[in-house]
Amino acid sequence: MNKTIIVTGGAGFIGANFVLAWIKQGLGPIVNLDKLTYAGNLENLVEVQHNPEHIFVHGDIGDQSLVAELLAKHKPCAVVNFAAESHVDRSIHGPADFIQTNVVGTFHLLEAVRAYWGSLSLENRKDFRFLHVSTDEVYGSLGKTDAAFTETHPYAPNSPYSASKASSDHLVRAYHHTYGMPTLTTNCSNNYGPHHFPEKLIPLVIHNALAGKPLPIYGTGHQVRDWLYVEDHCAAIRRVLEAGQVGEVYNIGGWNEKPNIEIVKTLCRMLDEKKPREDGKSYIDQIAHVEDRLGHDQRYAIDATKIATQLGWKPKETFETGIEKTVNWYLDHQDWVANVVSGEYRHWVAKHYAER
Ligand code: NAD
Repeated sequence: MNKTIIVTGGAGFIGANFVLAWIKQGLGPIVNLDKLTYAGNLENLVEVQHNPEHIFVHGDIGDQSLVAELLAKHKPCAVVNFAAESHVDRSIHGPADFIQTNVVGTFHLLEAVRAYWGSLSLENRKDFRFLHVSTDEVYGSLGKTDAAFTETHPYAPNSPYSASKASSDHLVRAYHHTYGMPTLTTNCSNNYGPHHFPEKLIPLVIHNALAGKPLPIYGTGHQVRDWLYVEDHCAAIRRVLEAGQVGEVYNIGGWNEKPNIEIVKTLCRMLDEKKPREDGKSYIDQIAHVEDRLGHDQRYAIDATKIATQLGWKPKETFETGIEKTVNWYLDHQDWVANVVSGEYRHWVAKHYAER
């Protein structure tokens, strides 16, 4: 079968890291469908801007006829769906876009893929994969001593974001069970690494610290999250695409549970060493506790035993090595951060990128 794959949302944080690694490893042509919302940034893809193996298409996963056209034209062996509205706080203030893209958009994407898949020869139908990238947040919140989420943990999403992702997971599951579509779903913990939009905790703290701004911590900061370096997540997705059992779900995690406050203090100490404040004080002094997020989940933890034992995937980075790479990346890419913060990245397409 043709080696081309289609990814959606490949101008965002995880999608862009996935595209860059795919091209770097020479895995074949990759068509990247992205709506370029505020979170989509073609500057993330500048390294592959002129690479003929990367074909960028500006569009919406909810545009079923566009997706059908792309499928007919490129005849991919897989579709990997990263596209989503992904920020919990934004979902609390304005859930509509989350329902539109994560639920309705995923539905239209699935419909277009179902028609394409049905049109393939029997052999190609067997080889085709639809991989849906999802989150551990669909499982809800854990108590301090509860066992980590396995793939059979009941769904209990608590935010409009996680509820919309849970809905999309259910649609994907239904397309496998009802139509026999060869789907795979991955539920991953919090990612961190290069190209992360500075509204999320780690890049926000690095940016605010260097800009002399307060480092906002929700409530006590004792909410626990599991953290995974983004390149390890991308490697896990490639592994699931290659060897996952159709219809199955794989949890992906870093075995790195940490309270938010610890993450922030770690970042402050690293910056104290790498880029000391002019007044000689610690960045820790900039920490400012703010009112807790509505319905804030206390703890997420992933049990990634299934993907580790069945598919032999393990993260390469520890939290210490991953966070070191991440902080260094932000320090070396202050222009990228400045363009995002100023909104200049929105003009990137017009200035630098020729759409094909
Ligand atoms: P992101 O917000 O950085 O990027 C999302 C991308 O999707 C952007 O490029 C945006 O332009 C694009 N997009 C949004 N709506 C679209 C639409 N209707 N059609 C086409 N493109 C659209 O998100 P991310 O952090 O890279 O997350 C990617 C996926 O991984 C999401 O599905 C998210 O739920 C999931 N996930 C994220 C994390 C995390 O820690 N960031 C963890 C687990 C799972």
